[in-house]
Amino acid sequence: MKDCVFCQIVAGKLPCAKVYEDDDIISFMDINPIAEAHTLVISKGHYEYVHQCPPEILSSLAAKLPDIADAVFQVSGAEGYNILCNSGRAAGQVVPHMHYHIIPRFSGDGLLGEWVVKQYDNPDKMEDLCQRIRQKLN
Ligand code: AMP
Ligand code: ZN
Repeated sequence: MKDCVFCQIVAGKLPCAKVYEDDDIISFMDINPIAEAHTLVISKGHYEYVHQCPPEILSSLAAKLPDIADAVFQVSGAEGYNILCNSGRAAGQVVPHMHYHIIPRFSGDGLLGEWVVKQYDNPDKMEDLCQRIRQKLN
């Protein structure tokens, strides 16, 4: 994808502070971090949503994620971290090339905010959604 920032990084046409690379994935520092050591892990191929990425590429990414998260965790000195993947514009995705954020977290850092939880209006709704999702997976 010619206009994709991350494809340009993969192609070496844009610089990045790279921490890891193999045949399927590349990991580099986020240029506008929300915490120090905020790191991205991306597929080399261009896929917008997670569900569009071939499982074997996701497997490569998932296999390396613990090592990268551990390195970020140790170097940042954080107390925890979020692994976050925004899929789709409505979910906050700005760069439409699948990527995972590793965001170091400290107690009380105020990042990301607290989730506003909801209740189902209709008690049957959750079961209905559950069945429909399950059917899609069969
Ligand atoms: P998202 O909102 O999930 O699409 O996040 C995209 C992330 O990519 C943001 O955190 C940006 O700061 C980061 N980003 C955008 N361009 C670059 C770049 N050239 N190098 C490193 N990170 C980038
Ligand atoms: Zn791309």
